[in-house]
Amino acid sequence: MSSTFDVMVVGLGAAGSSALYHLSKTGKKVCGIDQFVPPHAQGSSHGQSRIIRQAYHEDPLYVPFIKRAYELWEEIEKESGKQLFLKTGGLMLGNSNAGVIKGAELSARTHDIPYTYLSNQEISTRFPAFKPDNDVVGVLEENAGILFPEDCIKTHLEVAALNGAEILKNVKVTTIHTHSDVVTVGTNQGKYLANKVIIATGPWISEFIPELNLPLTVERQVLYWFKTNEPSIRLDNLPIYIWEYAPGKMFYGFPDLGDGIKVAHHHAGEPTSPDTLNRNISPEEISSMKNVISTYFNLNVEFNYGTVCMYTNTPDERFIIDYHPQHKNMIIASPCSGHGFKFASVTGKLLSQLALDEKPELDISLFSISRFSK
Ligand SMILES: Cc1cc2nc3c(=O)[nH]c(=O)nc-3n(C[C@H](O)[C@H](O)[C@H](O)COP(=O)(O)OP(=O)(O)OC[C@H]3O[C@@H](n4cnc5c(N)ncnc54)[C@H](O)[C@@H]3O)c2cc1C
Repeated sequence: MSSTFDVMVVGLGAAGSSALYHLSKTGKKVCGIDQFVPPHAQGSSHGQSRIIRQAYHEDPLYVPFIKRAYELWEEIEKESGKQLFLKTGGLMLGNSNAGVIKGAELSARTHDIPYTYLSNQEISTRFPAFKPDNDVVGVLEENAGILFPEDCIKTHLEVAALNGAEILKNVKVTTIHTHSDVVTVGTNQGKYLANKVIIATGPWISEFIPELNLPLTVERQVLYWFKTNEPSIRLDNLPIYIWEYAPGKMFYGFPDLGDGIKVAHHHAGEPTSPDTLNRNISPEEISSMKNVISTYFNLNVEFNYGTVCMYTNTPDERFIIDYHPQHKNMIIASPCSGHGFKFASVTGKLLSQLALDEKPELDISLFSISRFSK
């Protein structure tokens, strides 16, 4: 057993890699552990691209977090010299009463985020790939764009290592036991001691805190790439978008980054678990997504490839960023419900502040564990 770490981070996906990076800047003795070699394609953070946007249709309460996240993504880009964010603009599409339209406008107005309201005709003229019905309108936000998730994780870990963080890859944590002043982390390669542990194990998180009975569900999600030679899918002609085609039902997508357009449904996947996840994509699933494209786009496409990923959902789709209710030396992070990646830069910062007993710079009561028992 090695000497005691100030903080150990278990799980080095979106949240854990960022937490390790922020902790590594404090001069503390920190260590991150992952069961695989991150970035990898086994959890929730793979698939080439993630949407980042500010006019948050889900709730204006997220906007201070996303504004800070933008600053911190820029900070790590400057520090590493790597491009992690690509500005493409972002378009919310739906009828004028759709949640994505009303919600994006509300967040934009509440927090002075520049946006343009587009009529059906303006959508077709500016973005000819889309085939909107007559009642479809758009909220266009210039500052939205794409994060490259694998590069984000890789970069957080590289800079953390340069700052002196120890990183253990292919090491599976099997037990986490808290005592009053120290935490024992058992792995398939020995035991470690830490004053604090951050648990950021994504879809595997319930394994470590069964006593909390958190109302988390894991959902299978398929990402599809379709090819076409149409110029309308290129970066300068297509923003990232979320299309609410029926109340609460959405698909979203990205312009061509070289493999064709990437499209996916938001939710609508079957319940699963990391151990039972079906990673095969059926011909029926591909053909169903192709139908979505022929209904909503002026494109003839061919399926290129796909991948399967997991959402970890809370009932209110808010994240968990909190101390374990019984053990203040254990910090729990589940920043998912299908929209957590964009926040990872700030989530990691907040987790590092909790681990160091500092006051979090933003009010995280929104993400408390106690909300589930109210
Ligand atoms: C298909 C899909 C599309 C998405 N699109 C967007 C989007 O456009 N915009 C957005 O903001 N968000 C999006 N999200 C959500 C976002 O990607 C996730 O919220 C985020 O990636 C979750 O990160 P995480 O760190 O919680 O989990 P993960 O990245 O899965 O990391 C968990 C890590 O813990 C490790 N681990 C687990 N158990 C152990 C163990 N026993 N020992 C050691 N290590 C362990 C795993 O190996 C893994 O590396 C999407 C998610 C999916 C699945």
